[in-house]
Amino acid sequence: PAEYFFTPIHEQGRYSGSVLSFRDISQRYALDRLKDEFISTVSHELRTPLTSIRGALGLLSSGILGNISDKAANLLRIAVTNSDRLVRLINDILDLERIQSGKEPITFRPLQLSDVVRQAIDGMQPVADAAGVQLLHDTTQAEISGDPDRLLQVLTNLLSNAVKFSTNGSTVSVMMRPGAAGVTLSVIDQGRGIPADKLEAVFGRFQQVDASDSRQKGGSGLGLAICRTIVQQHAGRIWAERNPVRGSTFRVFLPYRPETLAAAQVAAPLD
Ligand code: ADP
Repeated sequence: PAEYFFTPIHEQGRYSGSVLSFRDISQRYALDRLKDEFISTVSHELRTPLTSIRGALGLLSSGILGNISDKAANLLRIAVTNSDRLVRLINDILDLERIQSGKEPITFRPLQLSDVVRQAIDGMQPVADAAGVQLLHDTTQAEISGDPDRLLQVLTNLLSNAVKFSTNGSTVSVMMRPGAAGVTLSVIDQGRGIPADKLEAVFGRFQQVDASDSRQKGGSGLGLAICRTIVQQHAGRIWAERNPVRGSTFRVFLPYRPETLAAAQVAAPLD
């Protein structure tokens, strides 16, 4: 891999030519790989002890301690919440690594996108009910070729974010617009919205609009990076927009026949 620079040369205020220079970035590329591998190895090693800590905490909070003070119960609650957060973070790191490395190639098969939407909505319904958020979806039918489990993961992530950043009494809607080459899926919320200069950054790893988002909302900042990787493997596009009045809309364009387009995308570095 290489990157190139184009430097215009001016002599006495007049353009006289340009210098094109190339820089070999294979070392940086190799370093990035090494860093990713390191993170995933560490995450892997952390998962087993963490699972046992989480299991033990679960048992302790299930009442085997008998009567405990409010203070002790509160400390247990904090330990459970935070180990759940760590488990989510580690699972997201390992998930992203697995998907990006191509260790688990995706399998395209014909599917009704509306089935995936319904499944994602059913899965999120309890969370939405608890948050007082109404989930709506249209009934448009669209058959595409894709990996249903991965697409379910994308939709679940988008719905989970939409609910997480919405307030009680608001609505989250999923809409599908079939076009000439593919379908555009939109997840529209009426939540707190995303600043214009962060609309692209939120798809980066560990990127959160607010530093308190991971603490208060329990996220890892990896969900949208995972979504983008999966959508790219489907030769599609994912982006975020600000709504005119309130909230944000996440759009996913999925081509009808990704098999004919995806090979080039998957071969390229996904970052
Ligand atoms: P997280 O696990 O933090 O949700 P994501 O990668 O899914 O990680 O999202 C990154 C950040 O983008 C979030 O922490 C939040 O700041 C912002 N974000 C994502 N979706 C929304 C949304 N629907 N409304 C407002 N902000 C959002």
